[in-house]
Amino acid sequence: MADRRYVIVGNGFAGTTCAEQLRKLDPACSIILFADEPYCLYNRIALPPMLRKQVTEQKVIMRDLAWHEKHGIDLRLGTRVDAVDTAGKTVTANGSAYPYDALLLATGGRPNPAASPGAAGAHNVYNFQYLDETKAISEALETAKVGVSVGGSFIAYELAEAFVSRGVETHWLIRGPRFLRRMLDEAAGELLHDAARTDGVHLHFGEEVREMVRSNGAVSKVVTTSGTTIDTDLVGIGLGLTINLELCEGTEIRTRTGIVTDEHLETDVKGVFAAGDCAEFYDPIAEQHYRMGTWNSAGAHGKLAAHNMAAAANGAERKVFDTVPEYSSLVFSGQTITQFGLSPEYRDDIETEMHVDRDRGWYRALYFLEDRFVGAVLIGKGNRAGKRRYLDAIKTKARFPKADRKALLDWTAD
Ligand SMILES: Cc1cc2nc3c(=O)[nH]c(=O)nc-3n(C[C@H](O)[C@H](O)[C@H](O)COP(=O)(O)OP(=O)(O)OC[C@H]3O[C@@H](n4cnc5c(N)ncnc54)[C@H](O)[C@@H]3O)c2cc1C
Repeated sequence: MADRRYVIVGNGFAGTTCAEQLRKLDPACSIILFADEPYCLYNRIALPPMLRKQVTEQKVIMRDLAWHEKHGIDLRLGTRVDAVDTAGKTVTANGSAYPYDALLLATGGRPNPAASPGAAGAHNVYNFQYLDETKAISEALETAKVGVSVGGSFIAYELAEAFVSRGVETHWLIRGPRFLRRMLDEAAGELLHDAARTDGVHLHFGEEVREMVRSNGAVSKVVTTSGTTIDTDLVGIGLGLTINLELCEGTEIRTRTGIVTDEHLETDVKGVFAAGDCAEFYDPIAEQHYRMGTWNSAGAHGKLAAHNMAAAANGAERKVFDTVPEYSSLVFSGQTITQFGLSPEYRDDIETEMHVDRDRGWYRALYFLEDRFVGAVLIGKGNRAGKRRYLDAIKTKARFPKADRKALLDWTAD
């Protein structure tokens, strides 16, 4: 068989991990890795610590050009793929067509801009997804006295935490009644809000931006829907992602909330795979399709996609996705939040067994679908001892009738 040609679109953690694995699994192949950003792989989850000045840019960059050369990965930085032709098996970039035998789409998502009047084009309104944005926000924080973070997402939280940790008076506008309202209930929200207030963040619930008032091209005031006016030096926006699906338009590749794949991460078009934030994949453990925008999932996807892309060449058995997705983050100085498996964010027929221990600052919610244990959210310090046991129970699809569920809460302190 002639040497296989692999093309990967997107050099985030999913795309670069896939390229690295392909080199190992299929030494004779050619790999082209397209990246529309000007950087080799960097650690997106290290951008918040970089903004807080806890790590340097140097530490955030994970790969360099020499690494790609050594691994025989033809990295095309600053090169956007404009189209995919699944019949002709090519992608087009800068007017040239690149043939592939197997293609990975690892295009991630782009942050939604602020839609409020006055926001467009203002030079002190920032999203927080890319290294370039991180550098620009960091520079603005050098002189800022007041900052406003907008949104109820993890990104808006990261912005609020960075602003306050850099000594800036911080206002956080949340449209709903709490942070992460689709994932957390009121009790969990309260614990996290307490941590935010302890760190000095001014929380504004039920508030959106009505208008951003400009002077000299910059936003100088944020007017909220209730009429409050906040004088500000910068505005950070955390209003979710739009998944990059445009390459699938006009092709047979099916999209929904993401690029739809089977349990092998292969799309409806044979030889075309999707991974990471952009993939709406079938999870055989959860027995459903969903998207999961986490660092670990991106890496696990990249690895699995490489295995299944190379299987056609090296004769290996194809593998299915068998990882329980997991997300963990420090939330302000006092709290850690860990989520694994499914939560009410993913489906509304989930039943919750929940316990709050205010003295210890613990919140534990366990999630069940019928009697099957499917996921959990743990907030607090020192309540993750039983995590491995929980993950095993999810993987083995263990069932717990209602009467037995409370006992599972004790695993956290095992
Ligand atoms: C500030 C921040 C903090 C985070 N913190 C956490 C955390 O604590 N824990 C956690 O688990 N997750 C966290 N995440 C999420 C995590 O970083 C992502 O889930 C993960 O990086 C996704 O990787 P990916 O490879 O799928 O996509 P991305 O990293 O988005 O990479 C996709 C790349 O493809 C490029 N691209 C898109 N279209 C094209 C095209 N047509 N041609 C060429 N290139 C293209 C994009 O520009 C991008 O560079 C955080 C994210 C951010 C932004």
